[in-house]
Amino acid sequence: MLNNNFMKDSLIIPDKKIETNKNFPLFNELSQKQHEQIVFCSRPEAGLKAIIAIHDTTLGPALGGVRMWNYSSENEAIKDVLRLARGMTYKSAISGLNLGGGKGVIIGDSRTDKSEAMFRAFGRFVDGLAGRYITAEDVGMSEKDMEWIFSETKYVTGIPKSLGGSGDPSPVTAYGVYMGMKASVKKVYGSDSLEGKRIGIQGAGSVATHLARYLKKENAKLFITDIFEEKAIKLARETGGAVIDPNKIYSLDLDIFSPCALGGVVNDDTINHLSCGIIAGGANNILDNELKHGEMLRERNILYAPDYVINAGGIINVSSELEGYNEQRAMEKTARIYDTTLKIFDYADKKDITPNKASNILAEQRIQSVGKVSTIYSSKSELSNREGEIYYKYRS
Ligand code: NAD
Repeated sequence: MLNNNFMKDSLIIPDKKIETNKNFPLFNELSQKQHEQIVFCSRPEAGLKAIIAIHDTTLGPALGGVRMWNYSSENEAIKDVLRLARGMTYKSAISGLNLGGGKGVIIGDSRTDKSEAMFRAFGRFVDGLAGRYITAEDVGMSEKDMEWIFSETKYVTGIPKSLGGSGDPSPVTAYGVYMGMKASVKKVYGSDSLEGKRIGIQGAGSVATHLARYLKKENAKLFITDIFEEKAIKLARETGGAVIDPNKIYSLDLDIFSPCALGGVVNDDTINHLSCGIIAGGANNILDNELKHGEMLRERNILYAPDYVINAGGIINVSSELEGYNEQRAMEKTARIYDTTLKIFDYADKKDITPNKASNILAEQRIQSVGKVSTIYSSKSELSNREGEIYYKYRS
């Protein structure tokens, strides 16, 4: 699951030569990728071993989910949290959010190691960061776990609607993927209609289900696969699609391949089998190696809609909680993924680079240009419109 090639080719200030010292490997790592802070949280009596990484807070508080995973070593957990935190910086920046990037990981088996004390202890550590890091649900976490965290800190998003939160983000994520897909079709075919387009959906889970419903409304031809065939059958039945064997989805003749299950599915083994014009999906880290496979797709004339751009509906949704959650507002913000995606394609054409590289550069440009604004002196109003502050006001 680790993909350390993520954004290897991005540019945040690394023109500057960064000094390294072999006696300080962790500090070397932090400075190489521009991370600000890493927090180790230990509470043995609560069974808690957690790490919080804050990558960049130029645009606002670092928001990113907490993942519970049975890492095999400390090193693996550190690498993962640093990679994921950095990814959140780019996702929020390109989505126009006033948020930085951060992430938490809890080391342990999510099937056997959970307890109320563990999550409440984690909540206390998050609270201690006083809003520099705002947490949310990620892999291995449940709504109940988030409620326990919420009982110790207000710096948590993605809580249930019944507690004033935004609930399940997957319908909004799917809407964003749909918007990104329409922008991709517009780029390739000149019209954003999906009518009659052959679309392969990998995974028939939450995001895929909502996505398939949008696509059905446009009379797209759907080909659905899941490792649990009954899930694919159910979704295909609802949306008039066909069920495909999980191994056959890659070589199917498609207009659009939409990975909505796992990351790393465009890799050395699959890339030569792909027979599609566009890849636009909800999964994170679709390209096994962002640089290499991004270039290979470009050579093959397959348009790749960067995953973290078009699956940003989830973070747009949870971050809306910081303003006092309003579903319509979250959907409106998510609809902007259409324009953002087109802007990225245009920039990629202009610079003759891959869309993923283009989107990394545009995200960095926003961080750098908006970051400069904060050098202008301004006496802060009580509510200066930074989302973390609004959040604080609503929840305290
Ligand atoms: P989910 O668990 O509801 O669905 C995933 C589905 O993929 C499951 O039905 C699973 O059986 C299937 N699957 C797993 N491996 C497969 C394979 N090799 N071939 C075919 N099917 C396979 O998850 P989800 O919430 O729908 O998320 C899907 C993806 O989107 C994940 O990568 C997730 O990280 C990403 N994502 C989700 C959100 C969100 O709001 N839920 C936001 C951003 C990104």
